[in-house]
Amino acid sequence: MRIAAEQPSAAHIGGVEATFLEPVGYASFEIRASLSGSKSAAIMPDLATCADCVRELFDPFNRRYRYPFINCTQCGPRFSIVQAIPYDRCNTTMHGFSLCGACRDEYENANDRRFHAQPIACPNCGPQVSLCDAHGKCIAARDDALMRAADLIRRGQIIALKGLGGFQLLADARSEASVQRLRARKRRDEKPFAVMFPTLDSIIADCVVSEAEVQWLSTPQAPIVLLRRQEPHSPQRVAANVAPRNPNLGAMLPYTPLHHLLMRELQCVIVCTSGNRSSEPICIDDDEAFERLNDIADAFLTHNRPIARPIDDSVLRVVLGRELVIRRARGFAPSPISVEGLRPDALAVGAQMKNTIAISVGGAAVLSQYLGDLGTLDADNSFERGVRDLCRIYDSTPDRFMRDAHPDYDSTRFAKRQTQPSVAVQHHYAHVLSCMAENALQPPILGIAWDGTGFGLDGTIWGGEFLRVDRRGFKRVAHLRTFGLPGGERAVEEPRRAALGLLFEIFGSAAFEQQHIPSISAFSQVELEALRIMLARSVNTPRTSSAGRLCDGLASILGLRQRASFEGQAAIELEFAMGSVTTNQAYEVDLSEGGSDRPLVLDWARMVEGVLADRASGVTVEEIAARIHNSMVESIVCIARRVQVECVALSGGCFQNNYLTERTVQRLRKEGFRPYWHRQVPPNDGGIALGQLVAAAREME
Ligand code: ZN
Ligand code: ZN
Ligand code: FE
Repeated sequence: MRIAAEQPSAAHIGGVEATFLEPVGYASFEIRASLSGSKSAAIMPDLATCADCVRELFDPFNRRYRYPFINCTQCGPRFSIVQAIPYDRCNTTMHGFSLCGACRDEYENANDRRFHAQPIACPNCGPQVSLCDAHGKCIAARDDALMRAADLIRRGQIIALKGLGGFQLLADARSEASVQRLRARKRRDEKPFAVMFPTLDSIIADCVVSEAEVQWLSTPQAPIVLLRRQEPHSPQRVAANVAPRNPNLGAMLPYTPLHHLLMRELQCVIVCTSGNRSSEPICIDDDEAFERLNDIADAFLTHNRPIARPIDDSVLRVVLGRELVIRRARGFAPSPISVEGLRPDALAVGAQMKNTIAISVGGAAVLSQYLGDLGTLDADNSFERGVRDLCRIYDSTPDRFMRDAHPDYDSTRFAKRQTQPSVAVQHHYAHVLSCMAENALQPPILGIAWDGTGFGLDGTIWGGEFLRVDRRGFKRVAHLRTFGLPGGERAVEEPRRAALGLLFEIFGSAAFEQQHIPSISAFSQVELEALRIMLARSVNTPRTSSAGRLCDGLASILGLRQRASFEGQAAIELEFAMGSVTTNQAYEVDLSEGGSDRPLVLDWARMVEGVLADRASGVTVEEIAARIHNSMVESIVCIARRVQVECVALSGGCFQNNYLTERTVQRLRKEGFRPYWHRQVPPNDGGIALGQLVAAAREME
């Protein structure tokens, strides 16, 4: 039992089995070369530099003083350097560096804190950093490279840093001009940038940080944590264009020795964002970075330890006192998720956006790191590399591919090109199954899957779904009333189009006369006429029950946003619009019977009318936004009461909304239900692959 009580912080005990054996008479403890056998799921995620290593890093009398690759058994690179298992040095990207005598002594000494630390290194035998100019020409080495990179950042330049799982772009976050240059070069208009603070104290000075958030910032996973900024102005003065019109800030602490050295030198907050152009995958090797980032970065701080695979920084927020992972990558992947009864050789290819893939390994699910959005040649190549990589490293030969039902997802097309059979899984069913798997829930379950879009089974776009999951499959028991999206996908970029769809549903053509509604006045007369015809004739106007698009439309009607520069921006701003208003008021939402054995329909018409009336009578935007959220929560409670299934699973991108998740959970509990939501598997499409893998197991039953 001492094993459990005294385990190192990075250890995870999967199970304990005890057997009594005759003493063999060994005199010492040693770790023998791994015997090859069946591959297990035991690949560790990357771990942030531990306190002991940080102390040594800044100790002038230590032999690793200021050495940017210091690590030990408790910390350092793992998944980002593993090329094969077992996890031995020869199977990592460190295999090219042979240990010096001093490092070997530590590696072989069972009492040393670097005993069998595979990436062990020192200034005499390990990797080194160098600084290259925008053309890839080396201009400085070692400590000089680091100091000069810091100096360039201070002078407002953009540095590409070869981090743990890929290149990152760094800029002084206090300088509006530097941040603007980064936005222009990266072609990223408004999507918030993450920042790295030098110390926990500097984060606390700038943001409101709860105890749980402090803990997450300081964990070995060292994720980006979404925090509320201090009002009105923070002492570190993060430039407004780092996260425009956003009360939150994605903040993290240094997590590699290289980051520690740089931040100790800079002593200020910096933008720290993935090294790519918008919608491209993150760069991992030098030549690729020199080629693809040369018109973004002014210089490259790189090093000669190869990165085995791209791994982005993870993102989470604390909801109801615990973590809700929004992007699951560094520090989390590829930690296995235990799920019972998985089919051994299925591979799930995930969705289109925020793609991840999943396979079952030794009875557990391995969900890959975030692979990004598909749809460009580079992204699709990177996705296919991800599939091959996962299969190779776990020695898995899939006998079937689980995929989304959407015929045009690039992941679907990939699955269909393979010789093995592919099985379609409805998008929202996969969302609910992923939530069930993460919480080890048994059916029956009422699954609530609210998101932007997913391919429905009836020719409409789903996204506001209530699915009753039983042993065999699922039944769509209720959904939001559908409305038309004039221009289809263009409505994602233009919330005003979703608004038009809602208004047309209620008022018909008369909606177009109501110039006092911001969504209407946001269009020219010519545009309005074209859209009216589209809606009236249902041309290029798919129908949707999407909760995400409903929120977009309401944000537009409220005058918050007519065009979005990234998906979900309007819905996010609707959440922010509440400010600190607290109210229990809500609009009426009607429930109409769909007829015999047809799903119930949640009708938002009276909510939209209520919003218009409140606007006209001068109710504040904050108050209206809060009432909208409350109405959504009450509509969920209303369906739960009708369906009468005790366990309720909340999934889909809408449940990244803090208020919606917290209030839904509280209200459901008060009504006697048992609500479950996500934790380390993203509620957004990053969790779809896990759900697909579970669907393969259910198919088998
Ligand atoms: Zn360490
Ligand atoms: Zn050494
Ligand atoms: Fe989704």
